Amino acid sequence: MTRRLFDTDVYLKEAQARVEAVEEKDGKVWVILDQTIFAPEGGGQDADHGWINGIAVSDVRENGETIRHLVAEPIPAGTEVTIKIDWERRLDHMQQHCGEHLLSGVIYERLKGNNKGFHMGAEVVTVDIDLPEIPEVMVLEIEEEVNRKIQENLPVEIRIAEQLDELADVPLRKKPTVETDIRVVNVPGVDCVACCGTHPSRTGEVGILRILRADKYKGMTRIQFVCGMRAVKYSTFEHRVLRELNQQYSAETANLVARLKKEREKLASLEQELKAYRLRELDRMMEELVREEQTLLVRTFENMEAGMMMNLAKTVLKEREAVCLFGSLSEKKVILMHNLEELHAGKIFKETIQTVNGRGGGGASSAQGSFQEGEDLKQFMEQVERTLFSEKIDK
Ligand SMILES: [Zn+2]
Repeated sequence: MTRRLFDTDVYLKEAQARVEAVEEKDGKVWVILDQTIFAPEGGGQDADHGWINGIAVSDVRENGETIRHLVAEPIPAGTEVTIKIDWERRLDHMQQHCGEHLLSGVIYERLKGNNKGFHMGAEVVTVDIDLPEIPEVMVLEIEEEVNRKIQENLPVEIRIAEQLDELADVPLRKKPTVETDIRVVNVPGVDCVACCGTHPSRTGEVGILRILRADKYKGMTRIQFVCGMRAVKYSTFEHRVLRELNQQYSAETANLVARLKKEREKLASLEQELKAYRLRELDRMMEELVREEQTLLVRTFENMEAGMMMNLAKTVLKEREAVCLFGSLSEKKVILMHNLEELHAGKIFKETIQTVNGRGGGGASSAQGSFQEGEDLKQFMEQVERTLFSEKIDK
């Protein structure tokens, strides 16, 4: 049995202990101590990290009444050791965890929504509430209410009940999953629930809670949030992004959204104009290609979608006998399409493409090739053009 010092004093950052046993399995070394300040993984919360006699501890697991520490190298049984936790990590866990209690308590109080899942990720924390939707205005109210409870600096009381019936008059948010030695975490007037995680002794230590998103998730609502230093860092990051946007759009934060909307409308109108211009340009090009006297039509376009290029060739081939060798520099693609009997487009592409850096092939009347570099495309087109000349297309 490992004595759990963190259950009675969550602020213990360093202590003395004795190594009771060392287990080596699958290349991993686990150490069991007589007592520990390392809280194991559990209930959605990650394990504490830290050091045993300066040797790194990177995971902590609970197995019945024993707590095992994953260490970087073996420590002999019987060794007296100094144990130390990574306090920044632990404080972060306590802030997120306590924030979760406050958030769940406020949501239960206001909407009767139950927390059905809790996960503390490295970046954000999530809770799944069994409500199909929470309106945005309500999300903002909940966030404000939780922060009010943080500022009231309420006590976070821990009580251990040996039997479930001792808790008959305790307003538990949900029924405990264990029947004996139940650890109850109570924030008076906000939340009361059985929990074995680590929590600060007053809500003020959570600092701040920010809800980042509330999304529909499997018939429930998944809320993403951050507390404490995570929330401070997130706010700093957001502020930097906003400042950058304000500079780029010469706008104040208050009118940034209106400014972006205006820019988007301007862009949409320009896109429409460009589309109309391109269609006119395509018509003009098609007429020119149809009128052309030569059979072999070679064109390189600076900016043209591959599909558009194929449509252009198809339209020309409907009107007259021709061999269209078209390249698009913007898409780095080449097409060869024709309506002559004696040519095999795929064969020509296959033979030539090996000499440059590209991929492609096709059938008798149509072939395509794509390239990494514009230079390869140009070189390829020149070679294909020479081959087509040697085939005496234009007699
Ligand atoms: Zn808890």
